[in-house]
This record gives sequence, C-alpha cells and structure tokens, in this order.
Amino acid sequence: MFCCPLCEEYTIYSVCNDCRKIRHYMSIYSKGRIIEILDSILSRTEDKQDNKVKSEIKKEIRTKMENIDAHKTERDKLDEEIRKEIKEKFNKDKKMY
Ligand SMILES: [Zn+2]
Repeated sequence: MFCCPLCEEYTIYSVCNDCRKIRHYMSIYSKGRIIEILDSILSRTEDKQDNKVKSEIKKEIRTKMENIDAHKTERDKLDEEIRKEIKEKFNKDKKMY
C-alpha cells in the first residue's frame, strides 16, 4: 500500500485512481485550464455551480466545434487546390495532342 501524494488516501498505486483521473484531464486540457475550471466552479454557491458546469461544458463544445470548422475550411481549400491542379494538368495534356 502507498499513500497518494495528492489526496493522502491509501492506494495500491503510487497515485490513487481519482487523482490519476485528474492528472489525465490535466494532460488533455493543460493544468492551467483545469485550475481555471475548478476555480470558476468551486468559488460559486452550490445552486449556481450547475449553471457554471453547463456553461463550461458549452464552452468546451464550442471550442471543439470551432476547431472542427477550421479543419473543414482547411480541407475545402486543399480540395479546391487539388481540383485546380488536376484541371490544369488535364488542359496541359489536351494541348499536347
Ligand atoms: Zn489521490
């Protein structure tokens, strides 16, 4: 048995499962973002926490959707470039015959 260095509860791992989960979120969203979320949620009264959780989730979804849109625009541009190149090559080949 170990003592989790974060929550100080007994664990069979060096860090307990709950704290490992928190560490996992930090690796995905960055430590700063996790602290920002916790600060903004935990500093509110309990009845307001639900609304804040919902708004944080919405914010996260909005960011992800914006990223998807950005990728879509990039893909569309690339698609257009490729079509143009193919068309130019086709016209060039046509002139040769
Ligand atoms: Zn722990």
